[in-house]
Amino acid sequence: MKTVFDLKQTTLPVQGTDARFPVNRVYCVGRNYAEHAKEMGADPSREAPFFFGKPADAVFVPTGEVPYPTRTSDLHHEVELVVALHKGGSSLTLEQAREAVYAYAVGIDFTRRDLQADAKKQGRPWDTAKGFDFSGPVSELVPVSKTGWLEKGAITLSLSDHPKQRGDLSDMIWKVDEIIAELSAYYTLKAGDVIFTGTPAGVSAVNKGDEVDARIDGVGRLVFRMV
Ligand code: MN
Repeated sequence: MKTVFDLKQTTLPVQGTDARFPVNRVYCVGRNYAEHAKEMGADPSREAPFFFGKPADAVFVPTGEVPYPTRTSDLHHEVELVVALHKGGSSLTLEQAREAVYAYAVGIDFTRRDLQADAKKQGRPWDTAKGFDFSGPVSELVPVSKTGWLEKGAITLSLSDHPKQRGDLSDMIWKVDEIIAELSAYYTLKAGDVIFTGTPAGVSAVNKGDEVDARIDGVGRLVFRMV
């Protein structure tokens, strides 16, 4: 008898098409904007950005509401430019890295800041702080063929109409092609990989009932309510 497992591939919608983008791995960049590194108590002139991850099924396009996670009383928003790859490889050049980009999205790297602070103090991994259910809401993917290569543009987040985060993509310490090239020195990248490229300053707590409104010029908008 054939054994059947009811497993679902995580996929993301692509704006203007019927296509669904199948998610392989989800990589994240830490401290890629100097002002955010400083607000987290780091010195960006001495420490380079770094990588961590989320599980593939943490990424999703919300349909209006996002559940507040368990085991935290200090959930933080981090608005980020998200990049989806349609090519992979290892030790990519900057040119190969640019060719690997399929689409962009507006995303939020939700963080249980209390658990992250505890993990840092104890020298433990960040997984429970970063890789939980519904920790990576994103907008529909917008193909780079529509946006062009993005090097600048405002990236903002407000909570119930109160401005919280504001930065510009040009402030990224590692640019998108540099992130992909650097990441490909650690991992063999594949079509389906998704990368959260770091957050600007202004991170703060999100509470149930807050309306989250995240925007990136030239990419779009991600709006939902925490419940
Ligand atoms: Mn982040």
